[in-house]
Amino acid sequence: MEFGNTGSNLRDLICGANIEIPIIDGNHVRGINFDNAATTPAFQSVINEVMNFAPLYSSIHRGMGYKSQLSSNLYEQARFIIANFVSADLYHKTVIFTNNTTHAINKLSYSLLNNIKDGIILTTQMEHHSNDLPWRGKYKVDFVSVDDEGNLSLEDLESKLSQYGGLVKLVAVTGASNVTGIVNPIHTIATMAHKYGSKILVDGAQLVPHSKVDMKPVDSPEHIDYLVFSSHKMYAPFGTGILIGWKDTFEAGDPDYVGGGTVEIVTPDYVRWDHAPFREEAGSPNIFGVVALIAAIKTLNSLDIESIHYYEQQLTSYAQNNIKNLPDVTIYGHQQFKENRVAIVPFNVEGIHHETLSKILSYEVGIAVRSGCFCAHPYVQKLLKVTPEEIEEHIKNRHSLIPGMVRLSFGLYNTIEEIDFFTEILYKIIKNKA
Ligand code: PLP
Repeated sequence: MEFGNTGSNLRDLICGANIEIPIIDGNHVRGINFDNAATTPAFQSVINEVMNFAPLYSSIHRGMGYKSQLSSNLYEQARFIIANFVSADLYHKTVIFTNNTTHAINKLSYSLLNNIKDGIILTTQMEHHSNDLPWRGKYKVDFVSVDDEGNLSLEDLESKLSQYGGLVKLVAVTGASNVTGIVNPIHTIATMAHKYGSKILVDGAQLVPHSKVDMKPVDSPEHIDYLVFSSHKMYAPFGTGILIGWKDTFEAGDPDYVGGGTVEIVTPDYVRWDHAPFREEAGSPNIFGVVALIAAIKTLNSLDIESIHYYEQQLTSYAQNNIKNLPDVTIYGHQQFKENRVAIVPFNVEGIHHETLSKILSYEVGIAVRSGCFCAHPYVQKLLKVTPEEIEEHIKNRHSLIPGMVRLSFGLYNTIEEIDFFTEILYKIIKNKA
């Protein structure tokens, strides 16, 4: 992939990449989307595939008609395509369709209750709330620390694993941070976890769309036990999440959510659950979501995910270099560009509240970014060095201005020209601030 023109070439792949949006002065401009970590736009191939499939859809596993059989076959084949995409071993593992990453982690958290008695879950200070809150309350939870730059401390991980002496049952860690883009060494972490008898869950929401993920063979110490991700962050619409994990995790106890499709036999006083993945997918499945996700995976495969990663890294380092020398700008997490990150740049401008800045960018020039704490309050508090007293104040005073950041997050269709335009605008905003 050539640096510089790739994003422009790839714009045609994106539905609505060149759409005009209204701004505050009444004009329309071509919108710039630097908010891909929240949700990516869909590939045009995904939309086409969904439209082509529209006349053919019918119920999954619930009918003998042609359309129902076709839909059911597509749905089941999708598990193989997804497993293949992340090199999951379907002999030992199962692919469960969920609504999104959050649903997938909640489901895993519930299912593990049937397997883990009195165990400890180690998660980290850099997690999205979706890989933090589902563990709280059900388990004893501890958090692996991060340093001031936002890097996960492997020393702290090792020390906690050793201190708890085999009681840690799961290390639940993000593959890439949605705040800083820092990529964790998931296979090193897996090896450490396995050494102490723990399993590992990787939250792949930010990693899977931007970098090759390989779950590795189950007999390798580096292997990933559980992996979750969301289709709406990988160029397909909302409504489909993936949970891949050991089949036997989902064979014990009762499923979290029950109903049609989850059972082999029911009588007024007897229920026998079906095997995984079926017992974990209550209700009529979302075949459109699955068709869309498979189309997105096919397009990502055709583009070569490693090339995408390389190109997005170029965009990230370019943006960082552009804005780091602007007056009053602070970039968080890895001041200098490091290769092990996905395409996210979080920053603040002194004297302009993060929300105000993102509103100016959106309303005045049509640049979409996100601001705030990105559903990762503890991590953002750490990066911003918020004191315990300040946190206490925010807890007491519901209406206080919560600290946060502005986040740029790029997709494969963003361009250097867009970053140049953004930099120019940011410079103007900084110059004009009171
Ligand atoms: N984990 C990470 C790292 C994320 O960035 C997100 C969403 O931003 C999630 C989990 C939750 O994903 P979803 O909203 O699709 O459940």
